[in-house]
Amino acid sequence: MKLLEGKNVIITGASRGIGKGIAQIFGKHGANVAFTYSSSEAPALELESELTAMGVHAKAYKSNAASFTESEELVKKVLEDFESIDVLINNAGITKDNLLMRMGEEDFDKVIEINLKSVFNMTKAVQRTMLKQRKGSIINMSSVVGVKGNAGQTNYAASKAGMIGFTKSVALELGSRNIRSNAIAPGFIETEMTDKLDEKTVQGWRDAIPLKRGGSPEDVANACVFLASDLSAYVTGQVLNVDGGMLT
Ligand code: NAP
Repeated sequence: MKLLEGKNVIITGASRGIGKGIAQIFGKHGANVAFTYSSSEAPALELESELTAMGVHAKAYKSNAASFTESEELVKKVLEDFESIDVLINNAGITKDNLLMRMGEEDFDKVIEINLKSVFNMTKAVQRTMLKQRKGSIINMSSVVGVKGNAGQTNYAASKAGMIGFTKSVALELGSRNIRSNAIAPGFIETEMTDKLDEKTVQGWRDAIPLKRGGSPEDVANACVFLASDLSAYVTGQVLNVDGGMLT
């Protein structure tokens, strides 16, 4: 069953990993997919071709989610190409891990700008359109780390916790206009972001997860399908953990 037939979605940071998984699954569910990348042009264009070959209306846009003006310009272009925006998925994110003792100001600021300020930029940019339509679903890719913290990730945990506060506030501000705002808190999802970790640490994490495996981009994408579709019409202001039971 196609759950997103005809819905127009913007996904930030979909050249690989979770964002790419979301674009592919949304395409299969009948959505029209606009997605961004900041530097990985070749894989982004490859994904655009793959989706187009599947019969999906899809387009890749180069846009730095940390930039307020680029986000505004992006939304204008997407509206020219797709006419409306039903779903925004704020997925772009980075890590710059270090113990607080060794973390420089630049690495703190960069993570906050790309992971958190981007959510403000993009939500502001789509708000007017969703208000006019009197409908919309905004999904913010937080993390279990934003819920429970993690040593060596003060910058990342702060950005992901900030996203949860933002998500709930938007749900309160825009609920009366039928605009829903939810966050997803993935646990350990096997992508290039987690490839950087050493295998021993990763195996330790897998063993500690009740479902005994890392998650896949598809696991997260399926949760996004629920939050983007009308199946979640009465769900807003929530954080959905997609973590194999990690936070249980
Ligand atoms: P990933 O494989 O590193 O992919 C990150 C994506 O974000 C890439 O497409 C990248 O494209 C894009 N991106 C980075 N900076 C950007 C910017 N300034 N503007 C626009 N796009 C940008 O990461 P992932 O594992 O798929 O993670 C996706 C999201 O899930 C992130 O927000 C991450 O924090 C969150 N998350 C991941 C995990 C996990 O275990 N993997 C767990 C919890 C939460 P370019 O290369 O073109 O920059």
